[in-house]
Amino acid sequence: MRLMQDRIIKDGKVYPGGILKVDCFLNHLIDVPFVDKLCEDIFQAYKEDKITKILTIEASGIGIACIAALKFKVPVLFAKKSKTKNLSDDLYRTSVHSFTHGNTNEVIISKGYLDSRDNVLIIDDFLANGAALTGLVDLVAQSGAKLAGAAVMIEKGFQGGGDRLRAMGVRVHSLAIIDAFDGDKIIFRQ
Ligand code: 5GP
Repeated sequence: MRLMQDRIIKDGKVYPGGILKVDCFLNHLIDVPFVDKLCEDIFQAYKEDKITKILTIEASGIGIACIAALKFKVPVLFAKKSKTKNLSDDLYRTSVHSFTHGNTNEVIISKGYLDSRDNVLIIDDFLANGAALTGLVDLVAQSGAKLAGAAVMIEKGFQGGGDRLRAMGVRVHSLAIIDAFDGDKIIFRQ
C-alpha cells in the first residue's frame, strides 16, 4: 500500500542487522490518524469475514489492534508475556522468540476469552521471521476458533515469515512488504 511505503521512505530508519525503526509514527510515538487510515484498509480487506475478535501480542500490536477494532466493532484480545510460571490450566500458552530482543517468551491468553464460536483476525505491527504470528496462530488453533487471517503493518519479506505462513494456508494482508534493504534504500515488493 502506497501510504505506508511513502511513510517508511519519509520517516523510517534502517539499522544494521536488518532492523527498521518506525517508532516516530508506529510503535513508540503513534500517529493515530495515520494508523486509522491503515486500519481502514485492513477493514476493507476483512469486512465480509464476520470477525468476532482481534488477537494481537503485547506490546506494540495493542494500539493498532484497538484502532482496527473500532471499525470491526469487536473486542481486542492480546497475548500476554507471562513473567511468572503460571501453572493455571485456564490458559492457552505458546512460546514466541523475539527477533528484536533475542529472547523467548511464553505468551498466554485466558481460555475464557477465545473459543470455537470465534472468528479471529490477528493484527501486529511487524512480520519478520513469523515467530510472533505463528505463536498467535497456535493459540487460535488450541482454542478451536476459526482463523480468518492476519494483517500486519510492515512485512519484512526477506525474512520469509509471511511466505511461510501463506504456504501454511494463512491469509496474510500486509500494508507494505519490504523485499530488501540496499544501504539506506528500501526495496518494496510491488
Ligand atoms: P517475527 O516474530 O515475525 O520475527 O517478528 C515480529 C516482531 O518482532 C514484531 O512484533 C516486532 O515487534 C518485532 N520486529 C521484527 N522486526 C522488526 C524491525 O525491523 N523493527 C522493529 N521495530 N520491530 C521488529
